[in-house]
Amino acid sequence: MSPLSHVLAALVPVAVYVASRDRRLPSRRVVGAATLGGVFPDLVDKPLAHSMFLLPNGRVGVHSLPVALPLVAVVLAYGWRTGRVRAAAAFGVGVVLHPAGDWHAHLLYGSFPPHLVWPLASVPVKHVPGWSAYVPAWTAFATAVLGATALVMLRDLRRHVRPKASG
Ligand SMILES: [Zn+2]
Repeated sequence: MSPLSHVLAALVPVAVYVASRDRRLPSRRVVGAATLGGVFPDLVDKPLAHSMFLLPNGRVGVHSLPVALPLVAVVLAYGWRTGRVRAAAAFGVGVVLHPAGDWHAHLLYGSFPPHLVWPLASVPVKHVPGWSAYVPAWTAFATAVLGATALVMLRDLRRHVRPKASG
């Protein structure tokens, strides 16, 4: 699926949930979190696979449930601790729906790709084909987005997670 399709696949269920529950559109924070979550697996895994060759292919890593679910659990815990569960859940919806979107044709026909449980199952090594023209641009884009996200997270962590005062 294209990045835009992943974003829409994350935004639509989040917007429907918020609209049906609150009778209004989701906040910018929730929209931003769902958007980031919807593309997050590709932002992380494509450069790691196709630029750095650290993953066997671009659909494992955050695309895999043994990696994605603990990541989402940590984000939900942080959202709960900082009073932003809805934004955290919107991010999680995006992350979890992303691999379902990538593999929707297989899943609809009852086939379960081993990529979804990597590294518990081995997957074929597949670098670049279909991505070759986009790898440098996507890697630069992903680095910019993830770098900006890391800076925002560090600032947020500093604000919300303070060491307990001693003495
Ligand atoms: Zn993907």
